[in-house]
Amino acid sequence: MGRLAGLQGETFDVAIIGGGIVGCGIARDAAMRGLRVLIVERGDFGGGTTSASTRIIHGGLRYLEMLDLRLVRLDLRERETLLRISPHLVKPLEFLIPFFRRDRTSSLKMRAGLALYDALSYDKALPSRRWLAPEQGRTVEPALNRPDLRGVAAYHDARIDSPERLALENVIDAGGHHATAVNYCEAVSLVTADGRASGVRLRDRLNDDAASIPAKVVVNATGAWFDRVTHALTARSSAAIRMTKGIHIVCQPVTSHALVLFSKVDGRLMFAIPRGGLTWIGTTDTDFTGDPADARATRQDVQYVLASVGDAFPALRQEDVLYTTAGVRALVRRGGSASSVSRMHRIVLGEPVAPAGVISVLGGKITGYRAIAEEATDAVCRQLGTADRSSRTAETPLPGARDQFGGPREDDGRDGVTSHLYDLYGTRAEDVLALARSDARLATPLSAAYPDIGAQVIYSVRHEHCLQLSDFLRRRSLLGASADQGLDAAQAAAHLMGAELGWTNTDTAAQVERYKQDVATTQMFRHEP
Ligand SMILES: Cc1cc2nc3c(=O)[nH]c(=O)nc-3n(C[C@H](O)[C@H](O)[C@H](O)COP(=O)(O)OP(=O)(O)OC[C@H]3O[C@@H](n4cnc5c(N)ncnc54)[C@H](O)[C@@H]3O)c2cc1C
Repeated sequence: MGRLAGLQGETFDVAIIGGGIVGCGIARDAAMRGLRVLIVERGDFGGGTTSASTRIIHGGLRYLEMLDLRLVRLDLRERETLLRISPHLVKPLEFLIPFFRRDRTSSLKMRAGLALYDALSYDKALPSRRWLAPEQGRTVEPALNRPDLRGVAAYHDARIDSPERLALENVIDAGGHHATAVNYCEAVSLVTADGRASGVRLRDRLNDDAASIPAKVVVNATGAWFDRVTHALTARSSAAIRMTKGIHIVCQPVTSHALVLFSKVDGRLMFAIPRGGLTWIGTTDTDFTGDPADARATRQDVQYVLASVGDAFPALRQEDVLYTTAGVRALVRRGGSASSVSRMHRIVLGEPVAPAGVISVLGGKITGYRAIAEEATDAVCRQLGTADRSSRTAETPLPGARDQFGGPREDDGRDGVTSHLYDLYGTRAEDVLALARSDARLATPLSAAYPDIGAQVIYSVRHEHCLQLSDFLRRRSLLGASADQGLDAAQAAAHLMGAELGWTNTDTAAQVERYKQDVATTQMFRHEP
């Protein structure tokens, strides 16, 4: 039976379109409140803009500069919540802001900004800001070893190496509360009755099946695809969001600390972040039109980033860029330059954005996703007449943060593979390890360079909605973010996936080929004039 046929005959309380971090967060919240939930994603969960982010959980110094204090406060509060409910995925990270003699940015202004940042996160568990004298700064971070260093401001935010897994753990938890989650399934039109949404028509992109599924409320959480999806669902033209593209370059390590730098080109705030033994540098913020799925880093984007950080890393050249990432922000439409538009979200019930029965979720950051999901689910409950059910997502740990063993686990003495699995899966690592113990072949690494093992592939297919090779390499593991983007492991992973999913040799070869093409897209800037 096809995946959609299995849904026929069901009426859902809410159908959520879009499986980015926001849609997945809503699915979890709504399912935990006892609603019958369907979430559909046209690609893979977390594979849209969520996968293209800088991967930091932050209030945002940039938004402080714009005096968006409400947004900064909300995100600083949520940063603390995420550190609490998903400590295996969201981890504290100290940022250094160096000041050099000829800098245009005033260190006094930045120090005042950090004092305000601390004040706005008065309830935080993270350490407060500190100031490092030049000699201290040079010792702490060799990349700052310059005679013109005037001092370094240091402050804490948090990092999330896999926002894709954060989205996924929300889906897994939603599933644990009886939600139905289907990836590679696109919402193609709205079903209406008396001018009100009464369901969605879906197309399974893996086998071209289609079905109309009744739902009492429909949520459009499609991020940068919002206007396109609204048009497809309702045939109305929509201009609710403004899209801006952001890219990163990924290179061999040039710093051992996360740095905040000010672009030499236009003064914008940039990040250089150590991740998985490499350095990510970004980002850009330029208006974008077209299908967000086609966003990629051009040579011009790469040149801008390199020129922006040229003072900090004078030896860095285009040849040193291993690959790029690119994604599209969905900002609630207002005027002004792309960088100056607020990242605050907006939730609209029905008109004027969509017909009654549709809840539109616009804008927002990964950092605030849980609060956005809570607000959106409150709106769903009001529509359903179940407003007495309140959210429990701020207090309930995500699946990998739950203690499955009834007591604290000793993490001393873990070997490299076990530590790596705990970093990725939290306490669910035990399930992966149990698989590896059941079959010695699954304990074998997928490639000589990385600790990932075969059991992860099997586990992803059986328990984590993993259907394509790129799902595993890019979104279930961190292999896709390594120097070779997981190419070395691709064949072994495809072989194991193929055996689980019944692929022919031709299917397996096609998956590997498609993944190689994905990788080539991240390096296309090299071939542009
Ligand atoms: C360069 C860059 C850096 C960023 N850095 C950070 C950061 O460090 N920290 C932070 O907090 N935020 C950051 N952000 C913002 C953050 O990434 C986004 O706000 C967030 O990921 C948006 O999530 P979403 O769920 O709304 O959208 P998405 O993740 O894009 O999800 C929307 C989903 O809808 C799906 N979809 C589209 N059409 C359909 C359809 N018809 N049917 C079914 N599904 C459909 C898409 O495939 C997509 O997966 C950054 C953004 C960018 C671009």
